[in-house]
This record gives sequence, C-alpha cells and structure tokens, in this order.
Amino acid sequence: MLKLKKKIQLIDQHDKNYLYGGKFGGNFIPETLKKPVEDLTILFEKLRHDKKFLQQRDYYFKHYVGAPTPFIPLHNLTKHLGGAQIWAKVVSEANGGAHKIYNATVHALICKRAGKKYIIGDTGAGYAGKMLSMAAKKFGLKCKIFMGAKDIKRQKPNCDAMRKNGAEIVPVYSGSQTLVDAVSECMRYWVSNCDTTHMCVGSTVGPNIFIKICAWSTAQISRELIVQMKQTFGNVPKKLKLINCVGGGSSAMGFWNEFMDYDKKQVEFIGVEAGGPTKSKLHAAPLTNGSKIGILHGAAQYVIQDKDGQIGETASISAGLDYPGISPLHCFLKDTKRARYTSATDEEALNAYKLVSKLEKLSPSLEPSHAFAEAIKLAPKLSKETIIVVNSCGDAKKDRDIIKKRLGYFK
Ligand SMILES: *Cc1c(COP(=O)(O)O)cnc(C)c1O
Repeated sequence: MLKLKKKIQLIDQHDKNYLYGGKFGGNFIPETLKKPVEDLTILFEKLRHDKKFLQQRDYYFKHYVGAPTPFIPLHNLTKHLGGAQIWAKVVSEANGGAHKIYNATVHALICKRAGKKYIIGDTGAGYAGKMLSMAAKKFGLKCKIFMGAKDIKRQKPNCDAMRKNGAEIVPVYSGSQTLVDAVSECMRYWVSNCDTTHMCVGSTVGPNIFIKICAWSTAQISRELIVQMKQTFGNVPKKLKLINCVGGGSSAMGFWNEFMDYDKKQVEFIGVEAGGPTKSKLHAAPLTNGSKIGILHGAAQYVIQDKDGQIGETASISAGLDYPGISPLHCFLKDTKRARYTSATDEEALNAYKLVSKLEKLSPSLEPSHAFAEAIKLAPKLSKETIIVVNSCGDAKKDRDIIKKRLGYFK
C-alpha cells in the first residue's frame, strides 16, 4: 500500500517525475509543452512563498470571492434523520455560486504576475469557463475559452454568461467535440502562444503544476473551516466526517487539505462519485467502480476506459461530475486509504436535493446533492457526538431546468 507522509503538504508528495506514490500524476505531455509547463512550475513555486502574492490572494479571496463562506448547522435535517449532527460549509455563497472561483482567481493573479495579458481555459459544462471569464474581467485580462462544439449547443446559458463577461468561446470540432477535445485544443493553442498567454485548468487534473495550483487555491475552504470549528466547538471535533462530491476532485481537495495530518479515526474523508442513472451501466465513478490506471490530460490516474484502453463513455445527472478521470491526488488518497470513496446514483442525488431543500434554507446543486445523499445514508447509523459536515459547493440555480424536468418543481 502507498504511504502518506505527515507534515508535508499533499501537493508536494510526489517524486522527481511528479508522480504521487510513484504511480499517479506526472507530466505525460508532448515535448513542445515541456517548456511552458516548466516555466509555470518555477513561477508558481516562487509565488507560493512570496508574502506579497499571499497578501494579494487573501485580499481577493476576502473582498472578491467573499471568504469566509458560512458554516451552518442543519438542525431540521439532523432531527429528521436522528443520529449524527449534520452541518454544511456553504461554499455556494462564494462569488459565482461555486468553489471554481478560487482556482480562477489565483490563475488570474498568476497571469498578472507573469506579465501576460491573455488567459485561456477549457470547459465542459461551462462552469469553469464562466468562472474564468469572471476572474478575467475582474483583473482586466483578455479571455478565450475552448469548448467542444457539442457542449456549446448543450450549455447555452453558460456560453451567454461567458460572452457577457467579454470572453471569446473557441469551438472545438475535433474528436467527440466535448471536454476531452477542448482540453487538448487549449493545450495546443497554449504551446504556440505561451509568451503572451497563461493557461488555466479548471480542476485538480492535468499536468502536475495545474493540479498543484488548483488544490492550493481551493485549500482556502478547509483553512476557513478549521477556524470556524475552533470558534464553534472550541476545537476540531473528536469524531468528524467530511463528505464531498468528487468530479475532478478540486472541491474535495480544498475541503480536506488542512485536515490531512489529523488521524483518520478522528477526521474521516468521504468522497462521493457520480453513480449515474440507476437503470444504466454507465456512471462517472472511476474510484468506486473498479476502473484501471491510464493517462488522461497528461496525468496517470484511474480512468473509465473500454477494453482497448480508449476513454469510456460516462453518464451523470450532474454535468460537473460527468468526467471519466479523477485527480491523481484522489487516486493517491484512495490507495493510501486516507480517504474513502463511494457513489450515489442520479435518483439518490435528486432525493437528497428534495429532502435538504424541503427541510433547510439551503438549495444545493446536483453535485453536492450526491454528498448529501451519503450523509443521509450515514447519519442515522452514527452517534449524536459525531459531526458530519457536507461541502455544499454549488447552488441549485444552475440546475433549475433539469430539476424542474425531473421533479416537476424547483424551489
Ligand atoms: C465543477 C463542479 C464540481 C466538480 O468538480 P470538482 O473538481 O470535483 O470539485 C462539483 N461541484 C460543483 C458545484 C461544480 O461546479
């Protein structure tokens, strides 16, 4: 079994080939990408220890992103289920309605520091693109978003939002015309334009440096949560369970990062993948449904693939979780057994949304509804001393149409 070291940041626990546990991550990239990736690696290693840069990050997290986001008890849900106390970290209160704004803001700041005027990124469902276009607008950067032609058709409201923020959407017609191809095209563009252009990857995936920057950015969530717990309970609770949905894995990494050194008997990490529709064999759960290690977007990870090693088809009600790969950091946490992974089906997520939005003044999007589904299963089996915290990382407004279609209402 792989080993997790204490007192060393998780994002730094790779070997000289940038592999976590010698197995996951790395930089499996074409020769032409090596130089821009290396330059960005050197710049970020400098910036993350630069006092002025840290002050800037903290300033914009507070005054632009809206940190700290609330930490609230869900009394009605707790009473209804009986058992563990359920709380929520309401990250959906952040500017833009989800955690992706932390990564986008940091990338915009890095772009400024690098003296570049252009920022590019890829997007599938459109949320990463929307957040990057927001941050670009805020910091006066010109923004291009690469997006599969098929996704552009499916995600009109997000495309409208990106254009409104002044971003140019570059349609990608190659391959399946979805996220996987958009990422490849974005990287190709970056190689030819890296002198003037900075690239952002929207989750804890991709070549090593992008995983690092993203996890370092979302770590704000757990930094805040530790302070809020000390204020609320006097300390980090003796029995704590931190439940997060997992797509690429950036919200979960951010939610867990500062708790990494706690014993897992005290602070358990539970990641919930998208189990997909009950009636289908398709899913988006590489860690729970026994997928194999493969290379996706420059990094080794568990990937859903067919018997020939081609990227497999996925399905989930939740666009944000519908991804065939998973962050190498989560592969590492799974193999070291520091985190436990499970999945929730589309129907379980919808039922969780129904119950939480009925009982509480909270409207989680379909991604965190997967995490709530696990909390709902777990809470009745646990003692009243146990604290469950769910990262409510997105707001349901963005899922309005699909919720209305499936449930017949939206509140
Ligand atoms: C994008 C998104 C996700 C999935 O991405 P992670 O990198 O796993 O966090 C989850 N929740 C919301 C609200 C999202 O927008």
